[in-house]
Amino acid sequence: MKIWMDGEFVAKEDARISVYDHGLLYGDGVFEGIRIYNGKVFQRAAHMDRLFSSAEKIRLEIPYSKAELVEAMDLCIRTNGLTEGGYIRLVVTRGAGTLGLHPFWCPKASVFIIADQIQLYPTELYETGMGVIVAKRPRISPEMLDPAVKSLNYLNNILAKVEAIDVGLLEAVMLNDQGNVAECTGDNIFLVDGGVLVTPPVSAGILIGVTRNVTIMLAKRAGIAVVERDFKPAELYEADEIFVTGTAAEIMAVTKVDDKVIADGKAGAVTRQLLQAFRDFIETDEAYE
Ligand code: PMP
Repeated sequence: MKIWMDGEFVAKEDARISVYDHGLLYGDGVFEGIRIYNGKVFQRAAHMDRLFSSAEKIRLEIPYSKAELVEAMDLCIRTNGLTEGGYIRLVVTRGAGTLGLHPFWCPKASVFIIADQIQLYPTELYETGMGVIVAKRPRISPEMLDPAVKSLNYLNNILAKVEAIDVGLLEAVMLNDQGNVAECTGDNIFLVDGGVLVTPPVSAGILIGVTRNVTIMLAKRAGIAVVERDFKPAELYEADEIFVTGTAAEIMAVTKVDDKVIADGKAGAVTRQLLQAFRDFIETDEAYE
């Protein structure tokens, strides 16, 4: 396993970052989690756009162009022989600096790319769907730290996930400060109501998921109506179907929310149709633009 670090390949054991790096000291940095299918980078333009937009919002300058990072990712895939599946973690930290907060006293951002295998949810879960809880801890508001920034600060999500882990589950629904559903700790969320696909709008305070956007596009192409609007957790309990989307999860049915079983407790027809559409999409060139 070789890691790309600031332009050079380093063995996994030797890939190290300074203890003065503000990514470590303060969670000051941004990242992307990207799927590799058929040896290619999934939705590379969307991931590059989000990375650079995240960096801009925290006033972090990435010392490479999008094209250079795409080339580095391709090199990582080939160097590590990832011909089938795989996952890329592309991280840009503020870089090594002083012990104070001052971000601009870090002379240069650190960039590294890990291309490895990914641990998926257990296969059975795609049939049975998974249970989630509604977390008590709200999602951080856009005024505090815009959830659209995919930053290295994940403690808000991690502590909500711990609420789920404490009751034997893997994912939690997070509400915004108005009590509307925002997203899950590492996934976006959708419900199906009377054949219409409903998902929280960007204004609810969410990460604008690459998988979310692909799912919306595929649903529209399949003639399924998609509405982005706010809703309360009570609507989840009454939904015909619920699923979450994410780079790791792809499209995963949710069949229980808190103590409430959703519909008949199995992955619903629309969820299964969209998962199939997603898998078909992976086989097209359009998926790798
Ligand atoms: N929300 C959060 C908080 C996430 O961390 C992620 C990514 N794991 C998502 C949504 C899904 O985004 P994507 O489809 O781009 O992976």
